[in-house]
Amino acid sequence: MKDILHFIDGQYVPSTNGQWIDVFDPSKGASYGRLSAGDAEDVERAIAAAEKAFPSWSQTSVDERFSILNRIADVIDANLDRLAAAESLDNGKPLWLAKKVDIPRASANFRFFAQAITQFSGASYEMTNAINYTLQQPLGVVATISPWNLPLYLFSWKVAPAIATGNTVVAKPSEVTPYTASLLGALCNEAGLPPGVLNIVQGEGLAVGAAMTNHPKIKAISFTGSTRVGQEIAKVASPNFKKISLEMGGKNPNLIFADCDYDQMLKTTLSSSFANQGQICLCGSRVYVEASLYDRFKTDFVAKAKSMKVGHPSHPEVKLGAVVSKPHYEKVLSYIQLAKEEGGSILCGGEAVHPEGYEEGWYIAPTIIEGLAPDCRTNQEEIFGPVVTITPFHTEEEVLGYANDIPYGLSTTIWTQDVSRAHRLSRQIEAGIVWVNTWLQRDLRTPFGGVKNSGVGREGGFDALRFFTESKNVCIRF
Ligand code: NAD
Repeated sequence: MKDILHFIDGQYVPSTNGQWIDVFDPSKGASYGRLSAGDAEDVERAIAAAEKAFPSWSQTSVDERFSILNRIADVIDANLDRLAAAESLDNGKPLWLAKKVDIPRASANFRFFAQAITQFSGASYEMTNAINYTLQQPLGVVATISPWNLPLYLFSWKVAPAIATGNTVVAKPSEVTPYTASLLGALCNEAGLPPGVLNIVQGEGLAVGAAMTNHPKIKAISFTGSTRVGQEIAKVASPNFKKISLEMGGKNPNLIFADCDYDQMLKTTLSSSFANQGQICLCGSRVYVEASLYDRFKTDFVAKAKSMKVGHPSHPEVKLGAVVSKPHYEKVLSYIQLAKEEGGSILCGGEAVHPEGYEEGWYIAPTIIEGLAPDCRTNQEEIFGPVVTITPFHTEEEVLGYANDIPYGLSTTIWTQDVSRAHRLSRQIEAGIVWVNTWLQRDLRTPFGGVKNSGVGREGGFDALRFFTESKNVCIRF
């Protein structure tokens, strides 16, 4: 059994209160260790360490930060197998997926922001008798709070730009998947990151996250997680004028037109529906298909989903591992039940799976549901599991209405060969991200985030560097 500790001032330490919570291996439905259950006192210790580290870290040269962030990326790469195994154990995701996507993306985040900071600059504005220039200055101690679905991937997506810009960080991974973030602490030491620049406080949202967001010394909060918690954070942070960036829930539509590249669309729609057990904020869970293509699509999509192997994450043939936790497993199954009560027909899946030898694990078959109205709860609320609905449409106007008539607005995928339609719809879709004839194709320079209940602010590229800095204008008269 493992003990997962806080990482404060470059050292692993238990909670001051001596409390622990269990951490689980979803593939077995059993505890594999315990986590230091932090509280406001641990947050206080972490903030003190970050405050102490800030003056010298914020004065380091861009070259120095570039080198250290690159070294962190190198050390992550050197530990790929160990980190991928930890991610898969903690989250239930297929090991091959953690090796191919999660961990390489974590090192890519550090490498990207190492490079980005060398290209980041202020502006200058000339007047007839004066010159203005802007300084982009670090904020001080900032908080990052991340979720369980892409644990190290999203943790590093926030920490890398925060430290690249010269801030010091108090970071909170999800209590459901704390393991890889914890391992990152030692890797940062190995890479030469000074103590106190990154501090990781483990524990539950209310005890740790709320103590962070409430703290007067925290200057900015970068959060990814549910809309409900994002609202809580906004309530606390806004009256105190903290900067906030909130990346929240989604219920993304796929708009599939009859003129699409069918094979490419089918293959990608399978991934956008069920990758990572459907637990990616960008998954398309509402699939709208032009009526003339609907029957063909339904037959092929259901056949392909039925052939996806669900099983232990270590098996190389497995396409879906376990969902992340028992409460989440129960939540997803309860939504399948709701879909039935709302009149939906289950075309495949719709039930738990019990792989031999891992009967107590939290596995759910890829589930496709049809026959539901676009405004029913199943089609309006985020399920965040391997569950999608399929619905036919007749006109562009009709499907645009379905896509937009929802409180969320994170991403949308459009499948069509008609370039004019792609441009037209991309402008009218209420979402922060639109993919046309592709999905989850990411360039880390692009703005990332949602509209409506899906987000406030943008991450990625210079947007992230601007978020973690304050612009100061200097005007010099001559
Ligand atoms: P969650 O909101 O329950 O938890 C996210 C983090 O917030 C965790 O670290 C949690 O401990 C912490 N937290 C909980 N209560 C808090 C509080 N009162 N104050 C401060 N912190 C608190 O989300 P989750 O269940 O871990 O993740 C799933 C959600 O994340 C889904 O809604 C998904 O759509 C969303 N998500 C969004 C994006 C995006 O980029 N928009 C990416 C990934 C996941």
